[in-house]
Amino acid sequence: MEGGCIFCDIISGRLPAVKLYEDSYVVVFLDICPASPGHALVVPKYHAESLEDLPEAYRSRLLSTVARVAPAILRAVGGEAYNVLINNGRPAGQEIMHVHLHIVPRRTGDGCKTLYCRRTKPGWEELKALGERIRAAMRAS
Ligand SMILES: [Zn+2]
Repeated sequence: MEGGCIFCDIISGRLPAVKLYEDSYVVVFLDICPASPGHALVVPKYHAESLEDLPEAYRSRLLSTVARVAPAILRAVGGEAYNVLINNGRPAGQEIMHVHLHIVPRRTGDGCKTLYCRRTKPGWEELKALGERIRAAMRAS
């Protein structure tokens, strides 16, 4: 996508980024507003707004790239664990409309709460009814 997408501009080299890894499918670079040191973004080299619009070869490469890069990030920043997150769509917090995956290094007691919201406790019957609605939606698609 020419113009208007900062991730496409980073992929093409028109904008700078601190790149950690790159191959023909993905580029990994440091987030410029990190939630923790080493917070990185895994970005497919294909402009699609959402995960479901991404060709499978690019989509599957996202997760295998996490397994390749995240352990090195942890070693470099002294992290103990990490969160993997995709904000898919604006109501979910997506700000750059080019699908991307966050790797957020974590440490015990780091106080990072950005990934958590209030949890509910629905009854078993409510869960079963919702499960049936979702399975029906999958059959219909
Ligand atoms: Zn793009």
